[in-house]
Amino acid sequence: AKDKGRNTYQKYRYEMNSKHAKRIKIECDLRKAIEFQEFEVYYQPQTDADTGKVVCMEALVRWNHPELGVVLPSEFIPVAEETGLIINIGEWVLREACRQTKEWQEAGYNHIKISVNLSARQFQQENLVETVSSILRECGLDANYLVLEITETVSMQNIDFVVRTLKELNELGIQVSIDDFGTGYSSLLYLKSFPIQSLKIDRSFIRDIIDDTDDAAIASAIIAMAHNLKLKVVAEGVETEEQLKYLKENHCDNFQGYLFSKPVPAEEFEKKFMSKRS
Ligand code: C2E
Ligand code: CA
Ligand code: CA
Ligand code: CA
Repeated sequence: AKDKGRNTYQKYRYEMNSKHAKRIKIECDLRKAIEFQEFEVYYQPQTDADTGKVVCMEALVRWNHPELGVVLPSEFIPVAEETGLIINIGEWVLREACRQTKEWQEAGYNHIKISVNLSARQFQQENLVETVSSILRECGLDANYLVLEITETVSMQNIDFVVRTLKELNELGIQVSIDDFGTGYSSLLYLKSFPIQSLKIDRSFIRDIIDDTDDAAIASAIIAMAHNLKLKVVAEGVETEEQLKYLKENHCDNFQGYLFSKPVPAEEFEKKFMSKRS
């Protein structure tokens, strides 16, 4: 038993060290990743409840690391947030996603919206609205096709600034969605004063929607209240037909999740989900 304990301890130390080393490597390499063109945008479809058509796609960043392979956002976004590198990475993602969307429109494909994640750090930038509008201009993309996803944490800080920024984005024609809804502290009542157009119910509520009556009740309550506030509702993390059925019965507007597709590279998205305009 003593030996086993020691082995476990050594294994733990080893994992600690290699984890720590990996984190340092990530931080170090992250600084060069944009320059070396190692980021790639994947796209995941959002389907309309009534028509079953793809109406929007979420842009999700991937890092193709030369030695580590594909690094998921959960491993580098927190590091990017801490170091401030998220500002450049986020801008790169926005530009690339808008460029790709415009390219698809020019090629004669159906026009669908692009939804891009904005980190709290990006949102705090005084010049955010200018940055976004200049990227749209640069890409030639109509602002009506852009949705920005912000989290509840963003909306809790410095309310006047947040409301002003959201209004300016709205005036440009950009829509704003609250991501991971239900995980933070904001209430829908408080969101009422926000110029936003939709919210995304967090995956954690969708996951157990069939087995957990509390989660089911929360999800249907969010949908009903959001509709009263004239907001559209997107469910994220939809994996099964049963979940989809429940969400449809409760009038959820759009669905995103593995049931439809995982996030995929642009080329694959084009093959699977783009069709020529009729
Ligand atoms: P998120 O914005 O909540 O994005 C949804 C995440 O759920 C994605 O993970 C997606 O792959 C995953 N997902 C979608 N459908 C399903 C499903 O049916 N089942 C399961 N288990 N997962 C599903 P991903 O791509 O690993 O991204 C994780 C998080 O990293 C994102 O969560 C977002 O917070 C952040 N992120 C990703 N790209 C960006 C970016 O460009 N900028 C910023 N600021 N954050 C990003
Ligand atoms: Ca998101
Ligand atoms: Ca989300
Ligand atoms: Ca989430």
